Amino acid sequence: MVYRTIESPSDKAFRYELKVAHLYGDLLNTYGDNGNILMLKYVGEKLDAKMSFDVVSLGDSFNADDYDIVFFGGGQDYEQAIVAKDLPPKAKEIDRFIQEDKVLLAICGGFQLLGQYYVQANGEKIDGIGVMNHYTLNQKNNRFIGDIKIHNEEFDETYYGFENHQGRTFLSEEEKPLGKVVYGHGNNKEDGTEGVHYKNVYGSYFHGPILSRNAKLAYRLLTTALKNKYGQDMALKAYDDILSLEKSEEYLDVKNKADFKA
Ligand code: GLN
Repeated sequence: MVYRTIESPSDKAFRYELKVAHLYGDLLNTYGDNGNILMLKYVGEKLDAKMSFDVVSLGDSFNADDYDIVFFGGGQDYEQAIVAKDLPPKAKEIDRFIQEDKVLLAICGGFQLLGQYYVQANGEKIDGIGVMNHYTLNQKNNRFIGDIKIHNEEFDETYYGFENHQGRTFLSEEEKPLGKVVYGHGNNKEDGTEGVHYKNVYGSYFHGPILSRNAKLAYRLLTTALKNKYGQDMALKAYDDILSLEKSEEYLDVKNKADFKA
């Protein structure tokens, strides 16, 4: 999926509006990370928000005021090194975006580049933008590959994904993990942490894509962004009313057809 912009249908009336910047969507898209964009659109529209997405890539400027959510996907070392060179002029605004408590989801390579540095598989160290304090070391002739399950104690939520990374990330003191590893490798296979949660930044090694496999996390990101923009007390549709399987139009459609045949 390569695109420059996507928008919710203009013939439909929405009460709210959310604008999403997709950092380097044309370069960083391992294992379907861009599916997170489709999930943000799907859940956002269910929450009555007109969704729009812009790819912000090489040479583009990024202004924190223009967006409510940022998505930053993962990539191979080759693409990641190209992105790392382009990032410095955007770093100040990405930092402001984070400090203003806006919602940012970063996967794998994106998660690594928000931190201090990343050591590639070949041992070469590339700078992150240092807007967060984690750092990523390499490992010799090995990658962390496989299914992974984590639990977030604060939200009492369990998340599932697929990880494939050589980088070993270590969090700083002010950063919480996205969850504790139940099975799989996680950030570094040493300290039982996976991903990061800092202010409203969510980072993870989960591909799959993370939001399609973990609709509760998608709901959390979108409701946080809506409350940031329209006030903490705004009325929002409940998760179960829009995302539980039994209430989904797709499920009811299949079920009705099955009942009809029976
Ligand atoms: N290139 C990075 C690593 O191998 C990130 C991989 C990814 O984004 N899937 O650790």
